[in-house]
Amino acid sequence: MSQTPKIALEEHFMHPDFVQYFATTSTNISPALFGKAKDALLDFGDRRIEAMDSIGVEKAVLSLSGPGVQAEKRVDTAVQLARKVNDFLAEEMAKKPDRYGGFAHLAMQDPAGAADELERCVKDLGMQGAMINGQTGGTYLDDDRYAVFWERAADLEAPIYIHPNNPPERVHMYHDHPELYGPVWSWTVETATHALRLVFSGTFDRFPGAKLILGHLGENLPFMLWRLDSRWEISNRGDMTLDLKPSDYFKRNIWLTTSGMCDDVPLRCSIDAMGQDRIMFSVDYPFEHPEEAGKWIEAAPLSDDERQKVCHQNARSLLGL
Ligand code: MN
Repeated sequence: MSQTPKIALEEHFMHPDFVQYFATTSTNISPALFGKAKDALLDFGDRRIEAMDSIGVEKAVLSLSGPGVQAEKRVDTAVQLARKVNDFLAEEMAKKPDRYGGFAHLAMQDPAGAADELERCVKDLGMQGAMINGQTGGTYLDDDRYAVFWERAADLEAPIYIHPNNPPERVHMYHDHPELYGPVWSWTVETATHALRLVFSGTFDRFPGAKLILGHLGENLPFMLWRLDSRWEISNRGDMTLDLKPSDYFKRNIWLTTSGMCDDVPLRCSIDAMGQDRIMFSVDYPFEHPEEAGKWIEAAPLSDDERQKVCHQNARSLLGL
């Protein structure tokens, strides 16, 4: 079968020194998958390349499997380890420059340092942006302390991918429902809320060039755009103001990937809600099956133009590939 060329951008790896942080997510997925995933994550060779080739992925933009140093309490340690893993990723990218890109891993505990490290990763190491695993020490990216970071990201035109992670505390509504805590549901709530904090805080008014990527076809948000606009008008919002309607930021500052979502209905919804230039194919390797994602997107109800855009053209233009 001929394959549409693809770029995939939620594709994870592991560094041996980060397994302890990765293990903090073991409460979210079954022990059997956790063990298998670790081996695949550590491989940068035949196994990963074969998985990419099997579905026509020409380039995978790699990112450390979370939460990484965002779970580290000591700021100096977080800063040093983030730098170490970025140098490590850059070495792997250099071995296969046609096949691997990279998203920087950043110690958000130090916002100005994270801005500098993002710049180093983009300008010196050839990376395409950064991936941030949700909150850091209970702080979300709309906090004023991150203005220095967003300013630099916008200047660099570097997209920031918010990847799910757990909230700082386990809220009562998940009591007695461990299955809802993690990828089934709580990660969606957490990550969608994080994105909405950025929209409603006016981060994209202050930094109109900032670029945000969300996985999982936008964590349910494309379905909600009309209601976000309509209810914002009547919300108890104090003196908050926005230059644009909430939905407008989704069509200017936000892009989505199909990571971990192989379903026509949310794909069509996302394209129809946000436009055909903002949706990008991804797998979420090794947590999802490449062949399932590849077969799905080839057969999905898209026009030829839409399929080319989703599979590779949108990622090429957003990431400057
Ligand atoms: Mn992922």
